[in-house]
Amino acid sequence: MANCTVIPVPALSDNYMYLIVDNETKQAAAVDPVDIDAIQKAAVDNGATINTILTTHNHWDHSGGNLKLVKAVSSIDRVYGGIGDDVPGCTHEVGDGDTFKIGTNTTVKVLFTPCHTQGHVCYHVDDAHVFTGDTMFVSGAGNFNTGTPAQMTEAFDKILGLPESTNVWVGHEYTAKNCAFACFCEPNNEEIKMRLEWAKGQGSIHSGGKGTIPSTIAMEKACNPFARIDHLSVMDFCGPCDDRSDRMRLVRKGKDDWGKMA
Ligand SMILES: [Zn+2]
Repeated sequence: MANCTVIPVPALSDNYMYLIVDNETKQAAAVDPVDIDAIQKAAVDNGATINTILTTHNHWDHSGGNLKLVKAVSSIDRVYGGIGDDVPGCTHEVGDGDTFKIGTNTTVKVLFTPCHTQGHVCYHVDDAHVFTGDTMFVSGAGNFNTGTPAQMTEAFDKILGLPESTNVWVGHEYTAKNCAFACFCEPNNEEIKMRLEWAKGQGSIHSGGKGTIPSTIAMEKACNPFARIDHLSVMDFCGPCDDRSDRMRLVRKGKDDWGKMA
């Protein structure tokens, strides 16, 4: 049996928060709890006690609830955030490879993935789940706000190095739009076409649909152009370019330019 249960909780217009509940102790971590009422309700509904906050990065729509939640929930004694990310209320700044536990059985390992912010981290939980914040989306990637294409390439390599069955839990519901760009980027990839139709059918949890989480590492390798910079079809999209980071830059630029046209 799994050591933990993951409960996604929608917030704002397209954000995802998560509750990670250690099954034995019912102690829980709240991931990016921007809507403190919704995350507390999820804890009550599942008989869990939040004692930890996991922050992927310091943008307000991920970390903006930290101080209020710490004030509202007296059992919270740990707030994690990436080194150098200046996360509100942070008590434990973490870097690559740091490990800690939720409850007694749920292990968390930190992947340091700066680029979208300078201290962005992902959390690899119980060898079965990864929480990717605004670094990896389903079939997409976050903006390279503070970093370089080389940093995003390194971040993707770390995430994609996890086992293929790992569940990927992302920071926003952007899947249908991301898949539409993926089809534009790789027009002959049949799996991406099917993925786009599936995403449209699922709809957004935020407006009464089912949503598209979790993805898996295997699915991202098949359907995420930012994860496919070493595949021929993405190389074709980029044009002559031998450098992996440069292809990451060109896919990002392609998505941004496509977004302006769409
Ligand atoms: Zn962000």
